[in-house]
Amino acid sequence: MREFTEKDLVRKNDARSHLVYHGGALPYFSFAPFDERGLINAFTTKKGGISTGYFEELDLGLSLEPMEILRENYLRAAKVLNVDPMKLVSSWQTHTTNVRRMTAEDAGKGPFRNRDYKDVDGMVTDVPGLTLVTYYADCVPLYFYDPVHRAIGLSHSGWKGTVGRMGEKTVRKMQECFCTDPKELLAGIGPSICRDCYEVSEDVAEAFRQNIPMEECGSILFPGKAPGKYQLDLWEANRRVMLSAGISAENIFVTDICTKCNAELLYSHRVMGMKRGIQAAFFGLPEEKKTEEKPKDSRKKQKSCGAVVFRDTDSGRAFLLVRQRKGHWSFPKGHVEGNETEAETAGREIREETALSVQFFPGFRSEYTYEKMPGVWKTVVFFLAKPCGGTLRFQKEELMDAGWFTEKEAGEQITFERDRKVFREAVQFLNGKALEP
Ligand SMILES: [Zn+2]
Repeated sequence: MREFTEKDLVRKNDARSHLVYHGGALPYFSFAPFDERGLINAFTTKKGGISTGYFEELDLGLSLEPMEILRENYLRAAKVLNVDPMKLVSSWQTHTTNVRRMTAEDAGKGPFRNRDYKDVDGMVTDVPGLTLVTYYADCVPLYFYDPVHRAIGLSHSGWKGTVGRMGEKTVRKMQECFCTDPKELLAGIGPSICRDCYEVSEDVAEAFRQNIPMEECGSILFPGKAPGKYQLDLWEANRRVMLSAGISAENIFVTDICTKCNAELLYSHRVMGMKRGIQAAFFGLPEEKKTEEKPKDSRKKQKSCGAVVFRDTDSGRAFLLVRQRKGHWSFPKGHVEGNETEAETAGREIREETALSVQFFPGFRSEYTYEKMPGVWKTVVFFLAKPCGGTLRFQKEELMDAGWFTEKEAGEQITFERDRKVFREAVQFLNGKALEP
């Protein structure tokens, strides 16, 4: 079979596309803004698998074909996407708006282990290495990435899901599980049927009129080409749901690839009916590789980020301290990795060291630099944060202990003066805040 190239694609918008087409033996699409941030993200096509007949080649649906064939297809896709096939986790789509949090225990459920859940059309996770998988043949894939709390969401939104505001439900779940601030989210609306191709009848139009504000319907529902029919713009409808959930317009990346316009490459229910396979969206946080300490370089400057984490209790404020393996007490912190921002590093390190998710307290940032060893200067940046999820559990590989201390206890427990200085600044800042009306 001839190779399908970029030139063969039908793209809908004139604007620069966010979707990159990766040709080759197993072609797929990815969002450039997610690629730039190191995320595993893909939307597969018909091509590159071993399915035959009307399933064509890369059917990934979990229902119709024998598992041996499907598993081979999954293994091939996982290889191209460079993910661990045993850590794929599948939805169980029935056009609901149910969103499930997936944890490390869910690894492999779908293609390689039985799913012990059903009626799950959306998933969220903060587990690196776990790859979420959802299924499509015209419906809309929604991708969500929270760079601050390092968490993702992936949801299936057909017309029913769109009316049910699936995008918003997914954002709410991420807020609940990871303290996500919608303003910080990046979101993708993936390949699916375009407005010109999606004719709907009166009942669907009515469902939208009932559930979407009238003034928005004008940008979503259009007169049909045939009498009594409508053209429905699911891309714009889902974009508006995302906006109303609090995501910034500039952080929403909308597809310009329609499944029906590109039916030679993609499965489209409107073109093929039930005689077709199913393509999948993949979304995952990359595996966190523990990099070996690099050889000491005298010119190298090191940087760590962390936070003074506090919570309010009946007997006053409590502060989170951790005891490093070398024996000293300090705040959770660690090295900046890759292209992380300071806050991303702090959030990730706190989560890794203490299993707590935190929300940063705006307006506080303290930093110091010290000579770690002759010629090696280390800068440490601290924010102020409150826990908003998880239960304190310290990472035994890196820490000896962790716990909550009163202000007085913490002041005495902290080992180094440079950390005590940060602590005093943080307390002063909080007391100043408390005085404000
Ligand atoms: Zn189209």
